[in-house]
Amino acid sequence: MLHPQLSAHQHSLRDPNTFWSSHADRLHWHHKPSRALTRQTKTLSSGVQHEHWSWFPDGEISTTYNCVDRHVHNGQGDQVAIIWESPVTHTTEKYTYRQLLDEVEVLAGVLREEGVRRGDVVIIYMPMIPAALIAALAITRLGAIHAAVFGGFAAQSLAQRIEAARPRAIMTASCGIEGAKGPISYRPLVEGAVEASRFKPSKVIVWQRDQLRWNNPDKLGGQRNWQRLVKSARMRGIRAEPVPVKSTDALYIIYTSGTTGLPKGVLREAGGHAVGLELSIQSMFGIKGPGDVMFCASDIGWVVGHSYILYAPLLVGATTVLFEGKPIGTPDAGVFWRIVEAHRVNALFTAPTAMRAIRKDDPNDRFVEEVGKRGGLQSLRALFLAGERSEPSIIQTYQGLLGKYAAPGALVIDNWWSSESGSPISGLALNGAASVTGKPSPRAAQPLAVRPGSAGPPMPGFDVRIVDDDGVEVPQGTMGNIVMAPPLAPTAFTSLFQDEERFYAGYMKRFTGKWVDTGDAGMIDDAGYVHIMSRSDDIINVAAHRFSTGAIEQAILSHPAVGEASVVGLPDSLKGFLPFAFIQPRPGTSPQETSLPATPTPQLFAEVNALVREQIGAIASLGGMIQGRGMIPKTRSGKTLRRVLRQLVEQAARGEYQASVSVPPTVEDLEVVEVARRRIREYFERKGKAKL
Ligand code: AMP
Repeated sequence: MLHPQLSAHQHSLRDPNTFWSSHADRLHWHHKPSRALTRQTKTLSSGVQHEHWSWFPDGEISTTYNCVDRHVHNGQGDQVAIIWESPVTHTTEKYTYRQLLDEVEVLAGVLREEGVRRGDVVIIYMPMIPAALIAALAITRLGAIHAAVFGGFAAQSLAQRIEAARPRAIMTASCGIEGAKGPISYRPLVEGAVEASRFKPSKVIVWQRDQLRWNNPDKLGGQRNWQRLVKSARMRGIRAEPVPVKSTDALYIIYTSGTTGLPKGVLREAGGHAVGLELSIQSMFGIKGPGDVMFCASDIGWVVGHSYILYAPLLVGATTVLFEGKPIGTPDAGVFWRIVEAHRVNALFTAPTAMRAIRKDDPNDRFVEEVGKRGGLQSLRALFLAGERSEPSIIQTYQGLLGKYAAPGALVIDNWWSSESGSPISGLALNGAASVTGKPSPRAAQPLAVRPGSAGPPMPGFDVRIVDDDGVEVPQGTMGNIVMAPPLAPTAFTSLFQDEERFYAGYMKRFTGKWVDTGDAGMIDDAGYVHIMSRSDDIINVAAHRFSTGAIEQAILSHPAVGEASVVGLPDSLKGFLPFAFIQPRPGTSPQETSLPATPTPQLFAEVNALVREQIGAIASLGGMIQGRGMIPKTRSGKTLRRVLRQLVEQAARGEYQASVSVPPTVEDLEVVEVARRRIREYFERKGKAKL
C-alpha cells in the first residue's frame, strides 16, 4: 500500500478538484467556491498564448478573518497567538488571539483613515517585532496587498521595490536591531529610498522604538507616528471589519531576485494561499491547532517568514514564535534551544546556514546537550531546514541529537521551495495522514524515511519532473533541469505583479509553456525523492537567500575604475555561497597597468564591496575579487559564461587548478578560459599563503 503522503500526492494530481475542495472546506469563505480549479489559455499582448489556471475562482475570502477573528469566534480567544522573543532587547511578549484581533482591527481602522483601500499596495519595511505581523494582518483585513521588504536591504533595493510596487503607504520602524550590534536607524534608509524612487508613497507610518527614535517626523512628507495614530483611533472607537476579496485577488507581493537584476514581484493569491498553507502546516509540519507551537526562525521579509511565522500557524489557531535575534551572538549559540524549552516548541524551522553557524560556535554541542539533558527539547517533533541544500552531515548530526533529546521519532526534514511556490514543493510530511483526510489526524502515520542529501518527495499539487535542455524528461536518477507541470499547487504563484510578459519569459518560455521552470537543477531518485543540486547561473544563494548576479554586477560597475564585472558563487562553509567578483579595470584607471596582480588592492576591494553593501545590502557582501584583463569568457553572441567561471572557482576552492571544465562550443575564445584559470590560481594560492 502506498504511504499516505504519496497517495495524497497522487490524488492531488489525479483529481485536484475533489482533493482541494475537501481542504477548502476547512476555512471560512465569505462566498464558498463552487469548484477548486479552472484552467484557461491566456493570450499575452505579444500574442503568445500559455496555460493559466485559477484556484477557487468564484470564492471570496478574508485571510485575516481566517487567521484571527475565526478563532476568537470559536472560543479560542485566550489561546496565545504570538510569542515575541527578542533577546537583543531582553523582551518576551505574548499576544492572545483576542488581543491580536483588537490590535489588528484598530490598525486596519487607522490605515483606512490614512487612505488605504482594497487593492492598494502597502510596503512593510520592518524589523522582527509584533507590529510587523499586525501590520500585515491589518493590510490584509482591508483587502489591500502587502509587499514586505527585508529590513536588511539598502535604500537602493528598497527604492527599486517602491518603484515597482507603487505603494499607497510604507509601514516601517524607527530602527532595526541586527544581532548584538545595537540599533540601526531606518530613517536614512527609508528617506533615501523615497527620494531615489520616482514614485512617492503618500504616507510613511513609523513605529517608534525606544532604542532609537525617529525624531520630528516630517509631517508634510506624510510621515506619521504609528503609536499615536493607534491611540487616537482607539479613543475614537475606530475599527475596521474584514473586507473579503476574490480568491484570485492578490494577498501579497514578494520581491525576489530575477535574472536581469530587476526584482520580480511574485504575486500570492488569497484563496489558494490559505487552503494550501492550512494543509501544509498540518501535514508536513505537524502543527494542527491550538496548543501547538511553531518557531520559524526566518524573517518576515522572506517567503518562509510570510508562510510559517505569520500565516500558516495562525490559520490553524496555533502559536507562532517571532524571534528578533540571530542564531548565534544574541547572546550565544544556545538561544534556539532555550526558546524551544521556554515555549515548548513543537516544530523548529530555519535555514541550514543557521545550523552551520550554531555548530561553528558550539562545536561540541554544549548548548543543545545542556538543554536536552534537562528535558527541554522533549516537545520538539522536528527540525525543518530550507532555503538551500542541506548537506548530509548536517542532517545526520542533528538527527542524532534529536534522537537523543527530542520527542520520540523526531526528524530533521529538508524541504525545498521558493518565493514562487509559497510552500514546500518537496519534503517529508510529519503527519502525512492529514493530507489525505483533510483533517488533523490524531494518529499520524509514520513519516516516510529521511534520505540525507535529498529534499523528499513532492508535496500535494506539485508535479515535479526532470528534463533535459530540450524539455524532454530524462530517466530516473539522471541530473537535469527541475521543472513542474502546470497547474502548480494552490499556494504557488500564477503570475508576477502586473507583469504577465515577464512571468511567461521567466518561467514558461524556456520550455515553450509545457513546463514551469524552477531555475534549479537536480534529479529524482528511485524512491521518488527530489535531490536539489544547484541553481541556474544567474542566481546565487547566500545564507539561504537568492541574489541576482546581475544586480551585484551592476553595483560593482558603479565603481569608476571597473569596466566589466562578472559575479559567481564562491562555496562557503557557513553561508553556502558568497558572491565572488571578476573585474576588469577600466583602461587607464589602474596604476599597475602592465602587470596587474590577480588580487586587487585592499582599497579597491573595500570600495567595490562598499558599493555592493550600499546598493544591495550587507547580506550580499563580496567573498573575494579577482582583477585582470581578458579573463571573462563569453559566447560568440556575447553572453558571459558564468558557468565556466563558477566551475573554475569551485575547483580552486578545493585546491584543484588543473581539472577540466565544460566549455560550450559557442565560446568565443578558449584562451580566455585559460587566462581565468591562471588568475584564479594566482589569487587562491596567494590567499592560501596569506592564511598561513
Ligand atoms: P527563495 O525564493 O529566496 O526562497 O529561494 C528559493 C531557492 O532556494 C530555490 O529555488 C532553491 O534554489 C533554493 N532552495 C530552497 N530550499 C532548498 C533546499 N531544501 N535544498 C536546496 N535548495 C533549496
